[in-house]
Amino acid sequence: DTLAVAFDAMVERVPDNEALVSCHQNIRMTYRQLQAESRRLASALARSGLAPGDRVGIWSHNNSEWLSLQLATARVGIILVNINPAYRVSELEYALNKVGCKAIISMTRFKTSDYLGMLQTLLPELANSTPGELKSPRVPTLKTVVQLGSDAVPGMLRYADLIARGDSADPQLALIGATLNANDAINIQFTSGTTGFPKGATLTHRNILNNGFYIGEAMRLTAQDRLCIPVPLYHCFGMVLGNLACLTHGATIVYPNDGFDALSVLQAVQNERCTGLHGVPTMFIAELDHPRFAEFDMSTLRTGIMAGSPCPAEIMKRVVRDMHMEQVTIAYGMTETSPVSCQSLTDTPLDKRVSTVGQVHPHLEVKMVDAESGEIVPVGVTGELCTRGYVVMQGYWDDLPKTQEAIDADGWMHTGDLATMDSEGYVNIVGRIKDMVIRGGENIYPREIEEFLYRHPAIQDVQVVGVPDPKYGEELCAWVILRPGQSVDEEGIRAFCNGQIAYYKVPRYIRFVDAFPMTVTGKIQKFKIREAMQEALS
Ligand code: ATP
Ligand code: MG
Repeated sequence: DTLAVAFDAMVERVPDNEALVSCHQNIRMTYRQLQAESRRLASALARSGLAPGDRVGIWSHNNSEWLSLQLATARVGIILVNINPAYRVSELEYALNKVGCKAIISMTRFKTSDYLGMLQTLLPELANSTPGELKSPRVPTLKTVVQLGSDAVPGMLRYADLIARGDSADPQLALIGATLNANDAINIQFTSGTTGFPKGATLTHRNILNNGFYIGEAMRLTAQDRLCIPVPLYHCFGMVLGNLACLTHGATIVYPNDGFDALSVLQAVQNERCTGLHGVPTMFIAELDHPRFAEFDMSTLRTGIMAGSPCPAEIMKRVVRDMHMEQVTIAYGMTETSPVSCQSLTDTPLDKRVSTVGQVHPHLEVKMVDAESGEIVPVGVTGELCTRGYVVMQGYWDDLPKTQEAIDADGWMHTGDLATMDSEGYVNIVGRIKDMVIRGGENIYPREIEEFLYRHPAIQDVQVVGVPDPKYGEELCAWVILRPGQSVDEEGIRAFCNGQIAYYKVPRYIRFVDAFPMTVTGKIQKFKIREAMQEALS
């Protein structure tokens, strides 16, 4: 099915269920209301001259309009382009031009960011133009800039005025819908930029709709569930593991806030009686360690997904114990594969849930191969994880060479991640090929050392990277964030390691920091830690 067909069928089943609660906007919508809103917006987009295959960007933090736009664009075959709200002018320019956006929908202000100012810098002619007729030398395809919010800004179309053009009963919608196919592109998502420059993955209805469904199945979502989504919608974590997992199960989507903030998550879970909560490990850490954590009632929680980066066993255990998420699942995936290819189930034994990313999703194949020979490695041996099946993206937008590098002639997506599989099919992510450290000929997986250091009572969070070394090729470096009120020095950490892990795994450099360089999804950018160390050591 296309997304609109699947969503409309769900509306027939649960018309009066709450589809969305946006806490920071104080907005509630039932499935029926969300359908009407998204149909009206779809009609407005079509009446504004946007046609199937056109690209429309959204550059915004989480809000109800984002969800309406996701459904509306899919309904009329427009390809939604998720633009990272952390992008600044040059990155925005790159993204818009890379995919040739005809329109962009954006906020004007967000706490500390001035989106209007950035748009005006990129598009100085905006103020003197008419929406729909913008002519910009720097972004030649762009015709319309829509702004979320109520101020009147010269040259920009207000979202309210855009949607007012539409009609939820517009007969055009059925006509356009009949021309669409599940294999059409629906979405371009940029990868997180954890290892370098983000790449735009083109995904189809079939890719993300099915993946959203199976993700929800693994969590055993039902129309009674209410899922708290503090992860960003611009990323597949919010858009597929969040929005689509809920919408394919009649469940309720709860946005606690526009950006991530631990306190509003705790409040939303309690006030909205959420049964599920998503997050990357750093978000769960921030929630569990929040000074007011104990004040909140988390007893309604049952499940949720921890994913995006290595999920430390210690954090998993605290989530199960202190947040009552007995059925928390772990997912592994990447933007290029819709994203999820492996996930634990709610009833996977806890020891497997804390130590693996679960088993391969239905209808998919996963293999681990030797990076050099391409041969499948034996059970238990580390190799590069490759995925094949309905989740694999169409390709990187307008980039055939990169696409062919990533997806081989037999349809296998080469993930760049190192993993093992045990005899029962449980997959363990060992690390990224790019993060592996080779010190004096020994392969070292930073993840293993991080897991070990997490056990130190004074350590809240830790990242281990390799830095160049004239003698050993690479040396290990740990960046450590201490728990509030706790202390330990370099020697203390080395003493903790000595005799417990092999001598060559004991970090040569240890630095105490307040924060790690991160993407807006909360993923730690190790390449920036490496760069900073290289600079400091040279
Ligand atoms: P870029 O490709 O731009 O460098 P990225 O790979 O972080 O960024 P995403 O597609 O958002 O962009 O993330 C996918 C990657 O995240 C995977 O390739 C893997 O390295 C990591 N990852 C995802 N889930 C897990 C998990 N459960 N455990 C360990 N690593 C994970
Ligand atoms: Mg990647």
